[in-house]
Amino acid sequence: MIARSSAAEESAAWRKALRDAYREPASLLDDLGLASSDFDLDPAPRFPFRVTREYAARMVHGDARDPLLRQVLPLAQEGEEHAGFDGDPVGEHARLGDDSLLVKYSGRALLVLTGACAIHCRYCFRREFPYADTTGQRRLGRALERLAADSAVEEVILSGGDPLVLDDGPLFALVEALEAIPHLRRLRLHSRLPVVLPARLGPALLARLAAGRLATVLVIHANHANELDEATLAALRAARAAGLTLLNQSVLLAGVNDSADALAALSTRLFEAGVLPYYLHQLDPVRGTAHFAVDDGRASALVDDLRARLPGYLVPRLVREVAGAPAKLPLP
Ligand SMILES: *Cc1c(COP(=O)(O)O)cnc(C)c1O
Ligand code: SF4
Repeated sequence: MIARSSAAEESAAWRKALRDAYREPASLLDDLGLASSDFDLDPAPRFPFRVTREYAARMVHGDARDPLLRQVLPLAQEGEEHAGFDGDPVGEHARLGDDSLLVKYSGRALLVLTGACAIHCRYCFRREFPYADTTGQRRLGRALERLAADSAVEEVILSGGDPLVLDDGPLFALVEALEAIPHLRRLRLHSRLPVVLPARLGPALLARLAAGRLATVLVIHANHANELDEATLAALRAARAAGLTLLNQSVLLAGVNDSADALAALSTRLFEAGVLPYYLHQLDPVRGTAHFAVDDGRASALVDDLRARLPGYLVPRLVREVAGAPAKLPLP
């Protein structure tokens, strides 16, 4: 039982951390002892800049090549056009109806709940996603009707944006509505908040998810071992102790984690937090992200190297999302 006042304090604390996020590259760089002139920054990025202070605190002071900084800093390269890179890299926009639901794969349906995030990752494949046409109460209501009518769906995935940016009130109401749909068995949340704002994984949220009828999987999103500090490890251990299944997905990113050392350190650190590596995604070619691309040959060689170093359960599946395919496709 969680006392109401402590749940309210918990919520106030993470909401304040959300509000306190950096919104200007210059102020983050200043705090890191770096200068804007050290970088070729995009003067007017199309995708806004946003970084939590918790996440920034794990960047190495004075290091212009820090792998966490590279994930969030809008570089002028984002303005370059590259063949094959566009606004809808995995063919999602055409599959959207007049509600919040995306159904691509058998037995699973994904709810796009919000366009908001605690951090803006430059490589995000939903940089140009039409959130205004998919989110909101009416569209969510229609999505729930569609889910209730489709008995083939066993698993609902809460996505966005970041679904844990929602307050407990609307989030718990949604979980309750999903629990009332008899053919649903599993609930999955895909969120970066356990990493970039670990206070969000407080006792109230964990208690609600653990007490629910649906078996619950939390898929976090970390790309580098340095993202997993003690606060995040503690939050994840609490989530595991509460009974959630914990997985991680990463994106393979040039200059961030494109080395076997970085990937091995990430897997090892995740395991210390009770999290198993799930997917290592090849970059979805969304406009503005070509400088993060790693070619398929190198990607496969990196994962071969990992396989030679680590137990099989610490090697993520290297996959690519291809529009129209029946699943995320494994790379050889
Ligand atoms: C990635 C994705 C899923 C989940 O796929 P898994 O292979 O089960 O992780 C489900 N729906 C959509 C629309 C997706 O993009
Ligand atoms: S948290 Fe996820 S949805 Fe949000 S910007 Fe990063 S990758 Fe995209």
